[in-house]
Amino acid sequence: MKMTQKIEIDVVTIFPRMFEAITKYGVLSRAVQNNIVSFTAHDLRDYTKDKHKVTDLYAYGGGPGMVMKPEPFFEFYDNYVQTKNKKPYVILTSPQGKRFDSTDAERLSKQENLVFFCGRYEGIDERVMTLVDEEFSIGDFVVTGGELPSMLMIDAICRFVPGVVGDIESVKNDSFYNSLLDHPHYTKPREFRGLKVPEVLLSGNHEKINEYRKRESIIRTILKRPDLFIKHDLDEFEKKVIVNIIRELISSEK
Ligand code: SAM
Repeated sequence: MKMTQKIEIDVVTIFPRMFEAITKYGVLSRAVQNNIVSFTAHDLRDYTKDKHKVTDLYAYGGGPGMVMKPEPFFEFYDNYVQTKNKKPYVILTSPQGKRFDSTDAERLSKQENLVFFCGRYEGIDERVMTLVDEEFSIGDFVVTGGELPSMLMIDAICRFVPGVVGDIESVKNDSFYNSLLDHPHYTKPREFRGLKVPEVLLSGNHEKINEYRKRESIIRTILKRPDLFIKHDLDEFEKKVIVNIIRELISSEK
């Protein structure tokens, strides 16, 4: 019997309720209800052993800011291995990590389980790195904690798990999937404040619609993200569309 793909995601954080933002709303909440995504936010404090449930302390060597203690993260890890009888695949959220992208999201969607460690303050004690499989950043800026970066990555990863988004083809048409940006989208009304929906989209001619969409996708990638276009391997259809764009440009200049 063919098993449906599922993903088990755990996060370790001092603010577990922040994750209600993704588990209580929209597409991801449905995926959780339908058991395609199993999601648990663990309170790091539950893995402390002292009376005051301390998760951070001053840094050795001085300097401003607190550092998250290593012990609760190790405690969580050992507990996970013991109760689930498997090693977790741990992702550390960090501005110093590899910049997370669509390829990472698709690749990680194929993992059976993922654990996200969320830092706060100056970050997590360096020794926790020995538990980490991959370190990811959401961009070259610093936010106050790993919760928002984890939520962004979890959302992007889960979109690639079959059954999460109604039609997986729509995920594959989105920006970045083929290193091209998505084409523009329109809905009713046909005309709004003098702005018209392009005629071709109303034509019912699917060949022409495909060509229009590919053309728009190529043009906006060249204009907005030439770096992506340069890396993109053109297929036969895209080459033909580019030939037509150039022909039209040349004939409009004559
Ligand atoms: N001192 C750290 C540094 O400069 O590399 C920054 C610590 S930041 C204030 C606190 C936590 O937020 C980090 O441990 C990480 O979990 C998260 N964080 C901040 N910016 C991030 C980013 N761009 N990508 C992923 N996580 C980030």
